[in-house]
Amino acid sequence: MIRLHDTLARQKREFIPADPRRITMYVCGPTVYGRAHIGNARPAVVFDLLRRVLEQAYPDADVVYARNVTDVDDKIIAAAADEGVDPAVIAERYEQHYLDDMGALGVNPPTIAPHATHEIGPMIAMIETLVSKGHAYEAEGHVLFSVPSDADYGALSKRDREQMIAGARVEVAPYKRDPADFVLWKPSPNDVVGWDSPWGRGRPGWHIECSAMIRAHLGETIDIHGGGLDLIFPHHENEIAQSRCAHGGAPLARYWVHNGFVDMGAEKMSKSLGNIVTPGELLAAGHKGEVLRIGLLSAHYRQPLPWTEKLIAQSKAILDGLYRKVGAAEAGTIDEGVMEALYDDLNTPLAISRLGQIADPTSLKATANVLGLLLDSEEAWFRGGIRSDVEARIEARDAAKKARDFATADRIREELKADGILLEDGPGGTTWRRA
Ligand SMILES: [Zn+2]
Repeated sequence: MIRLHDTLARQKREFIPADPRRITMYVCGPTVYGRAHIGNARPAVVFDLLRRVLEQAYPDADVVYARNVTDVDDKIIAAAADEGVDPAVIAERYEQHYLDDMGALGVNPPTIAPHATHEIGPMIAMIETLVSKGHAYEAEGHVLFSVPSDADYGALSKRDREQMIAGARVEVAPYKRDPADFVLWKPSPNDVVGWDSPWGRGRPGWHIECSAMIRAHLGETIDIHGGGLDLIFPHHENEIAQSRCAHGGAPLARYWVHNGFVDMGAEKMSKSLGNIVTPGELLAAGHKGEVLRIGLLSAHYRQPLPWTEKLIAQSKAILDGLYRKVGAAEAGTIDEGVMEALYDDLNTPLAISRLGQIADPTSLKATANVLGLLLDSEEAWFRGGIRSDVEARIEARDAAKKARDFATADRIREELKADGILLEDGPGGTTWRRA
């Protein structure tokens, strides 16, 4: 039996799928305008694990996991204007980076990856339904959702009206009937990407995208809706309002699951702060994807996760120990104690600690694989680990030399020397050997 903490119920509930043959899960995916930071990687890893756990618990079911790609957005449009390219160039580039980075963290591709730009028809259809039912209205080329038309609005975030208006940082616009109303559709000037609609040429607001794609690919009511804590309000509150009002009151999701923040020191990580740590940078610096993955799973998913150098070092040490233990073993029987911990609202700290207590290497391998860990052999882990690490650091040194930053280049050489690696610069480039 799986138990999940449901944000709407504010408690852990037994998970019972509506249809045990087809389990549906939707997670809000990336807006592709820049490299993902480590905070973006946490939901990707957490919900990848939840999917694997569901597949273990329901071996005869189809677990249908949809994660969208927001490929039309004002931030993408701004990035495209900066570079003087089409928004599709920006979106495609950063979607590929996202897939590469998450793949390196052992995140499997979702079953379905709907793209906003391919789903404009379903979005327009849902907006038309909302207008015809009196839950949305047109004003100056915009279509707005009428928050006062939905008596249940606010149930997920449990905020009062004043908090909602303040929290949404809503733009006060003269065409809004109520300050809490939010945009479903907005006009596009001629030089901005747009689509024809009953309200003129324009583009969708962000919230309608998820509601329309869930309806199109998974149905009116899904089993699990996931995302980061920061999406509860306004994004998920707005998704609920749109879907329920369009579908005669049918709930959007039966379980709402939210992961906590990744903390860099005292500050919440976000791209607007300068302290970006991206999985891409960490991987390039020679950290292995499994190290970052176990680090992201080291705290319970609902708790804040302090992201520190020390955590990365500890994560590597844990994996080194597990790899030494597993050796060249093939996967055997999955350990029940670890699965019990995972079935209890994804208790990963307990699951990882129990993993360390498994004596049988074949069982250790099979069980760790469920968590997306110990996918290499011991031999490949230690060989590949050292080589990719040294090579990444040599590349960083080459880049520093090219930029005439000789202080950094010398520092990298000294750091490698301290780790027992000697560099030799020759006409064909830099080679290395153990001291
Ligand atoms: Zn969403």
